[in-house]
Amino acid sequence: MSRALFVCLCALFCVPVPLPAQEAAAAAPVAGPVYMIEGKGAGNIGVIAHPGGAIVIDSGMAASAAGVRAALEALPGGGKIRFLVNTHWHSDHTDGNHALGQGAAIVAHDRVRPLLARPQSLMGQTTAALPDEALPSVTFSNRLTLYAGDLPVRLVHYPGAHTNGDTVVFVDRYKAVHMGDMFFNGQFPFLDVDNGGEIESWVHHLDDIVSKLPADARIIPGHGPLATVADLVAFRNMLARSAEIVGERMKQGKTLDQVKNAGLPLEFEPWTRGFMSTAQWLELVYRSLAKN
Ligand SMILES: [Zn+2]
Repeated sequence: MSRALFVCLCALFCVPVPLPAQEAAAAAPVAGPVYMIEGKGAGNIGVIAHPGGAIVIDSGMAASAAGVRAALEALPGGGKIRFLVNTHWHSDHTDGNHALGQGAAIVAHDRVRPLLARPQSLMGQTTAALPDEALPSVTFSNRLTLYAGDLPVRLVHYPGAHTNGDTVVFVDRYKAVHMGDMFFNGQFPFLDVDNGGEIESWVHHLDDIVSKLPADARIIPGHGPLATVADLVAFRNMLARSAEIVGERMKQGKTLDQVKNAGLPLEFEPWTRGFMSTAQWLELVYRSLAKN
């Protein structure tokens, strides 16, 4: 989800917009050398600490970068960043590239760099292009393995999910994973239909990921608190059930307004606690299904 969109939605729902520059970021242990710096509105940042330079997953907002840098300096290995991974293009995961990425290799899926190199518009909000030095300098098509010392860190691309350029980062030895925005823990997600996001293939990818994760895996979501496999399964089931309900209404010939006005059953109420309303979520699901 983009920062601009997030601010817009906050304004819409009278939610105070967080002030990232004033937040004290702290890195919470996940497993072994893996840490999570909570996004507080922007995307959650993952860290694999190493004396030779950390692998950092997503860069949050530029205004939060000094706090993130301070949190990194308190970790084993210190504040040096060797690789900065972008899980996808949205500005709440990439706006800090310039501040955090200097001296690091910025790594992302092939589809991310061209989106960051040009101004983007998302739900009526515009995001500026990043300067050349803040763009990914290493891109990949399907899979890439980075190393923190002798620790392999696997980057796997899943096409057609939250966007069409999503990367999930697996640290298998420590049963840890950073899902990017393929996982909003406990809340309706944004779905970037305009940039290749697709709800049905998203569900299939989550099935594939869940089938391969150990039962006690520790999961960093793009948004929300550190999660378990059960949390990820609950999110997968919510996506699948949403697609099923909206698909049934579309088969009955209902219009977008009718689909939205019908709402969702009471069981979905807990998912409304994030920044997407039920009506906004239903519209995104409808638009995704209407494309196929
Ligand atoms: Zn996103």
